[in-house]
Amino acid sequence: MAIERTFSIIKPDATRRNLTGAVNAVIEKAGLRIVAQKRILLTTAQAETFYAVHRARPFFGDLVAFMTTGPVVVQVLEGEGAIAAYRDVMGATNPANAAEGTIRKLFAESIEANSVHGSDSAENAAVEIAQFFAQNEIVG
Ligand code: ADP
Ligand code: MG
Repeated sequence: MAIERTFSIIKPDATRRNLTGAVNAVIEKAGLRIVAQKRILLTTAQAETFYAVHRARPFFGDLVAFMTTGPVVVQVLEGEGAIAAYRDVMGATNPANAAEGTIRKLFAESIEANSVHGSDSAENAAVEIAQFFAQNEIVG
C-alpha cells in the first residue's frame, strides 16, 4: 500500500475537554504521523465550506454551529494507507456503534459531538488539506 496523507480535525467537544494529546496518542499508536497541526477557531463560512457536501442534510445547521463553538485542531496525518487507516482508528460516526479502542468509542459525546473528522477519500483529503494548509506547512 502507498504512503498517503489524510486530513483530520479534533473537534470542539474534544478540545474543550483538553483531549488533544489523548487523541494524538491514539493516532500515533496506530502508526500515523502528524505532519502538520494547528489550533484554530473556525468561522461559520469556513465550517459551511468544509461541510458543504452535507448542506442538504437536516443536521447541517447544527453541525456548523457546533464546529464553531470552540477551538479545533486541524491536522495532516501521513502513513501507509492513511485515509482508510484513520477512518478505522476514528470508529463509526455514531459512538454507540464504534468499536472498542477507537477514538470515538473512547471520547465521543454524541453522533454530532464525535471528537474527530477524517477524510473519506483521496480526492476529499486533497481538497480538505488545501483548505487549511499551505504546502510548506506540511513537513513529513
Ligand atoms: P463522518 O464524520 O463519520 O465521516 P458524516 O460525514 O456522515 O460522518 O457526517 C459528518 C459529521 O456530521 C459527523 O462526524 C457528525 O459530527 C455530524 N453528523 C452526522 N450524522 C449526524 C446526525 N444524524 N445527527 C447529527 N450530527 C450528525
Ligand atoms: Mg464524512
